Amino acid sequence: MKIWAVANQKGGVGKTTTTVTLAGLLAARGHATLMVDTDPQGSLTAYFGLDPDNLEHSLYSLFREPMPDPAVLVRATQVERLYLLPASTALATLDRQLGARSGMGRVITRALTPLASRFEFALIDCSPQLGILLVNALAACEQLVIPVQTEFLALKGLERMQHTLTMIQRSQRKSLPCTIVPTLFDRRTKASVECLTYLREHYAERVWRSFIPVDTQFREASKAGVPLTNLAPNARGVQAYSELLDALLGVDSGNGSGETSLATEMAR
Ligand code: ADP
Ligand code: MG
Repeated sequence: MKIWAVANQKGGVGKTTTTVTLAGLLAARGHATLMVDTDPQGSLTAYFGLDPDNLEHSLYSLFREPMPDPAVLVRATQVERLYLLPASTALATLDRQLGARSGMGRVITRALTPLASRFEFALIDCSPQLGILLVNALAACEQLVIPVQTEFLALKGLERMQHTLTMIQRSQRKSLPCTIVPTLFDRRTKASVECLTYLREHYAERVWRSFIPVDTQFREASKAGVPLTNLAPNARGVQAYSELLDALLGVDSGNGSGETSLATEMAR
């Protein structure tokens, strides 16, 4: 099972949308895929029609007591091959309750181990707060996706995330490949264009060579409770995420150095 985490220490940058869309694409391509909601806000959980305020069994259960079979927490979605391990808002109390208890940094890693034969991919939607849940997600994953809204205020979240990553990599002695994904890109706004240029200048090859455009259909999909892949497979947003997925899977036709110029992309 390949485990990816989608993280940024800022809200509203497209983490949940990235998780849902990449997971929807993986399922559509034939892969059994598990989405794990680790955000106490429970947006991913709510996206699929569950109420994070009223869940008897959720990720929270795993932190309260070790579970012999974490599979009981997994829910099917309306979409074939797409599954969800939901969050409950009670997760917000974890740091206060258990923060200091040892062995809490690998709860998600341990829970995913017995699920490895059932799912080809697990995508973890992260909390924007630096705490036990984010530490768990970063410990469990082998690849990190950092969506960054193309707007200057959002760069602060990226800086924080880079800092956290350095810290975690040092303490866990692992190196985590990470891909910065410019999101909510609107070529008509100066802020979007300048921000994308800034990202490329300062983060170089860590930035995915394309971007996710603003696409209002993402909102329609969240209302419908399915990935946009299922609602409008040809939407601009889906096509951009499909290219991103190829890049993350390493089946990208480009070699990174052959990046398209900003002008060419924007003319699309
Ligand atoms: P996060 O999980 O980082 O808080 P979300 O994925 O929930 O961010 O996105 C925040 C809001 O922006 C949501 O309403 C979502 O539908 C919308 N959104 C995300 N990505 C796009 C996009 N590419 N185009 C248009 N709207 C988007
Ligand atoms: Mg979210």
